[in-house]
Amino acid sequence: MTGRKRKELPAYIRGRVNLDELLASRRVMQFVHERGPATQGETSEALGLSLGACNLHFQRLEYEGLLKALRLDPEGRGPGRPRSHWEFARETNAALGLVFDPPHVFIQLEDFAASLLWSQGASLRSCRNRGEVASRVARLAEKAVAEASARRLELRSAFAALPGVLDPATGAVRRAVNFTALEGLDVAALMQERFQVPTQAHSLGAAYFYGEAADLAPGRTALVMYWDLGLGFAFGRNRQLLTVHGGDEGGRVISELGHISVDAHGPLCNCGERGCLEAYAGGWVLLRRFAPPGATLEDLVEMARNGHAGLQACLVDVARLLGRNLASAIQMFGVSDVRITGPLAPLFLPGRDAFLEGLAEVIGARVAAVDVQVTPDPKARLLAGATRAARRAFLYPDEFTTLSRMSITLQGQKLAGI
Ligand SMILES: [Zn+2]
Repeated sequence: MTGRKRKELPAYIRGRVNLDELLASRRVMQFVHERGPATQGETSEALGLSLGACNLHFQRLEYEGLLKALRLDPEGRGPGRPRSHWEFARETNAALGLVFDPPHVFIQLEDFAASLLWSQGASLRSCRNRGEVASRVARLAEKAVAEASARRLELRSAFAALPGVLDPATGAVRRAVNFTALEGLDVAALMQERFQVPTQAHSLGAAYFYGEAADLAPGRTALVMYWDLGLGFAFGRNRQLLTVHGGDEGGRVISELGHISVDAHGPLCNCGERGCLEAYAGGWVLLRRFAPPGATLEDLVEMARNGHAGLQACLVDVARLLGRNLASAIQMFGVSDVRITGPLAPLFLPGRDAFLEGLAEVIGARVAAVDVQVTPDPKARLLAGATRAARRAFLYPDEFTTLSRMSITLQGQKLAGI
């Protein structure tokens, strides 16, 4: 997993600090990561640890390649020992973001300073089942791992973002109506078993959310809508995702807001039900209605850009419908920021005003307090979001274990209809 040569950990540390897991030293690592350069004295005081214990954690974390001594502070030189400042070793630790954006998969390697080091994609178009998807992903991951190794980086974690409904415990894909070859795929297990990289698998919404999070002010609550073949949603507050998936019984969850039926007699959806929001607004519907067979989502964006009259008119209706039907969720969560992202994000622009009108029909003048924006360069943000989530999964693993246990089902929610 690494090209770094290790020295022996001194016996006196090995005997006192639990080597089996980093948990005991994690608080120290988090403090130094958040705080930036810190001394052992500052750390021990902030965390209520003795200087001796703190010193062991620092040595342990330095041995693991997670902390590095920065410089000697001349002010600290006195009768005692010089005060060394330490920081998180951002340039020598790395994480992988894996994004399943059917029919493509992308892997991105970044260090903990968020510098993009390597990125590559592969097509899954010819894959007929999860076995074929798994071997294609493994080949791509092998290249990423080799790249990290060649750069002598410690690969700490990976984050896989997947469409559809995932198993809350494992992140394996339970249902992926728009790309069924993914069903049953357990990327976390694959990455762990083949490459020994601890991996979290969550919904695409998580990666989209983390892609936006850096731009959101603290205290804001965001609704991120990602528009691709389907229609997905993620909510977050204070730059943290509120819920990704859940629904142990397979019930509708927040990320599936697109499958809320707005008209029981409406058009048939890919999920088997009628009149879902997605059955009006999903990319697959727009492709079927307006594009020639074999056209891609990018072609659809191009058609709208070239002023396709039928598509333009439809996009205005779709935006109004979205505004009306997302209003209750926006109210329920106290959303202050709506971000539209995904490959079809540019299709939102012609209907932006209609979206606000639809929203205002339900929430009235409060619409003025909702900031609605279309994300620039959604794909780059998505990949950056997945790697950001991978770093957070290593630094703050609790954030992700609680998420997978949270479950807010939408059954019984009354929506505005068409
Ligand atoms: Zn549906």
